[in-house]
Amino acid sequence: MDVARKSSGAKYEYLLFDLDDTLYPMSSGLNLACRKNIEEYMLQHLQIEESEVPRMCLQLYREYGTTMAGLKALGYEFDNDQFHACVHGRLPYDALKPDLVLRNLLLSMPQRKIIFTNGDEAHAAQVLSRLCLEDCFEGIICFETLNPPSHLQPVDFITAPDDDDIEHAPEATVTDCIGSNLSPKSPILCKPSVEAIEAAIRIANVDPQKTIFFDDSARNIASGKGSRTSYSYCWEFRAREEGQQLEQFIQSTAVETVVHA
Ligand SMILES: [Mg+2]
Repeated sequence: MDVARKSSGAKYEYLLFDLDDTLYPMSSGLNLACRKNIEEYMLQHLQIEESEVPRMCLQLYREYGTTMAGLKALGYEFDNDQFHACVHGRLPYDALKPDLVLRNLLLSMPQRKIIFTNGDEAHAAQVLSRLCLEDCFEGIICFETLNPPSHLQPVDFITAPDDDDIEHAPEATVTDCIGSNLSPKSPILCKPSVEAIEAAIRIANVDPQKTIFFDDSARNIASGKGSRTSYSYCWEFRAREEGQQLEQFIQSTAVETVVHA
C-alpha cells in the first residue's frame, strides 16, 4: 500500500470505517436477515440442535466477536466461502439505496479512508456498490484480509481465494464448551479483538496516533482504545443523517462519542 502521501497537517489523517450498521442504518433489515441466515446455516449445515441455535448464536457472537469465529473455536470445520455465501450472499441488498449525501461528504474529506469490516470481500463490495460508495475508500480490510489461507500472509488489501476445507464433525461438543468455563481460542481473527485491530492498523499502514476509528459497536470501539490508537470515535449513525455532522465530528478532537450497539 502506498503510504507516501504527504501529510495534510491535520490532527487526524486516517479514517477507518466499519461497514455494517455504520455506513447504513440498522433499520435496513440486513442485520436481522444476517442473523437469521446464520441460524439457518447452523441448523442445516452444522446439524446443531434447533432449540440450541438462537442461544448459541448470540453467546458465540458475544464471546468471540462473530458467531462464525465462535463456531470455529468450538471445533466446527466448514468452508469459509460457503458460510459467507449462505449468510451474506442471500441478504436483501435491495434495501440499500445510493447515499449521495454520504458520498459527497466522504469525497470532500482529505483523509485516507479505509473500510475495516468483519464481513467478507463479496459482502463489502455489494454494500459499497449499493450505497454508491465504492470509489470513496482507498481499500478494504475484510475477513479474507485478516484470515488468508495459511500459505499466504496478509500484506495488503488484496484478498485471496479461500481454501477448500471439508466439513468435519466438531472436535468439542457445544455442551462441552458452552456449559463449561472453557474458552477455546478461535482461529478466526476479527473485531473486537485487539489483535484484529492492530493487524488492521498494520495492514493499512496508518499512524494509529492519527487515526479515527468509526464503528457502530461500542465493544469494537473499546478494543480500539485498547490498541495503540490514541483516540477512538464512534460515529453515531443518527448524527450522519443530520448532514454536516460527520465533518464537524472529525474536526473535533475533544468530544468522544460512544454508542451502544
Ligand atoms: Mg457494524
